[in-house]
Amino acid sequence: MKPEERISAARLWAAYNYPYLASALFALRFVADERVSHIAGDEYFRVYISDEASSAWSVDLLGVEMIHQVGHLLRGHASRAREIDLQETDLFRWVDAMDAELNDDLQEGDPLPKDSASHEELSLPDSLFGEEYFFMGSTRTGKRRDCGSSAHGNPRLWDEPSPQQSTDGVTAEEKELIKRQVASDALAHQRNHGSIPLGMLRWANSLLEPQVDWRSELGAKLRQGISEIAGAVDYSYGRPNRRYAFVPDVILPSLSSRTPEVSVVLDTSASMSEELLGQALSEIDGLLSTGGIRFESVRVFNCDSEAGSAQRVRAASDLQLVGGGGTDLVQGISAAVQTRPSPDLLVVVTDGWTTWPEAPPNRTRTVAVLVGEDPPSTPEWVQRVVVNESLDGKGSWNTK
Ligand SMILES: [Zn+2]
Repeated sequence: MKPEERISAARLWAAYNYPYLASALFALRFVADERVSHIAGDEYFRVYISDEASSAWSVDLLGVEMIHQVGHLLRGHASRAREIDLQETDLFRWVDAMDAELNDDLQEGDPLPKDSASHEELSLPDSLFGEEYFFMGSTRTGKRRDCGSSAHGNPRLWDEPSPQQSTDGVTAEEKELIKRQVASDALAHQRNHGSIPLGMLRWANSLLEPQVDWRSELGAKLRQGISEIAGAVDYSYGRPNRRYAFVPDVILPSLSSRTPEVSVVLDTSASMSEELLGQALSEIDGLLSTGGIRFESVRVFNCDSEAGSAQRVRAASDLQLVGGGGTDLVQGISAAVQTRPSPDLLVVVTDGWTTWPEAPPNRTRTVAVLVGEDPPSTPEWVQRVVVNESLDGKGSWNTK
């Protein structure tokens, strides 16, 4: 059989035997690459395969390898590795631990992926989380396996660049949609046939659990910011201070009706999802106007590795978004706080993969709207709202 025929036969085998994984299996894109020891994946649903090393594999073994790659992707093993700051020296132990988590869920009689670890080899019972296998399991000797950056997030030399368009690979938003689809297919399969493996069931349930709505959380943080500023103004300066009334040169703080100054810094670096950015922006627009702040009074700064100049527009959808380079929000935040009048409330919309200023800006409350799956930690002085839900097609705008 030609390599592409073996791949389609194996994919059909996998989708027939694990039907709830079908939408993930059919999103995989295969890349022939002889630098891979046999098979490896990246975080964008691309699977690199050595035709030579895999030419003698049975259809079910190749099918299981696909199930396995899909498992790493769906369960976010790469971002889980980032969470514990996995070092390259621990990489093979990490892969073994994640593999054991996945292999617990293989159906009886299916072959194990090539050289892949089982919970027995790590001297632990089955159905544990990968992290439990990693921190508590014994280390395998003699065999090891690198499943690719799909399993641990560390780039491999065969990895293609991250996708610019959907034909290059699966983007972050598409991945989110695929995950939700698989999770709901898995729960439906469980209801109808009752045969979903335990780890898979646990994953699907946790993914589909109702989550705190980020809109209300963001609304609460912005309202709190606005009213605290307005409130503080009323409280300290609301009553005219008659003691100074006879000093002609002193300008009294007549600020009782002051509207808070709001600035927005938008991370327009290449890693940002345009749709999620747009959705977050139109939400901010709406929330500010219910707080009595018109969007046209808000200064907006684009920022990738450099900050753009301030824009004022009538609505979020009129913004010109320019960027596409690396990320350094220190530039954007400093441009925003140095512009006069300096902002009382600074809203930063980003995926969070950036450096932050070491100290909080003076007299400015900072709220970070973190879009995308699994954003990294932020400094303590930043209030964070995580926007991680999948898209519904809203939030388009003009890009140039
Ligand atoms: Zn693996």
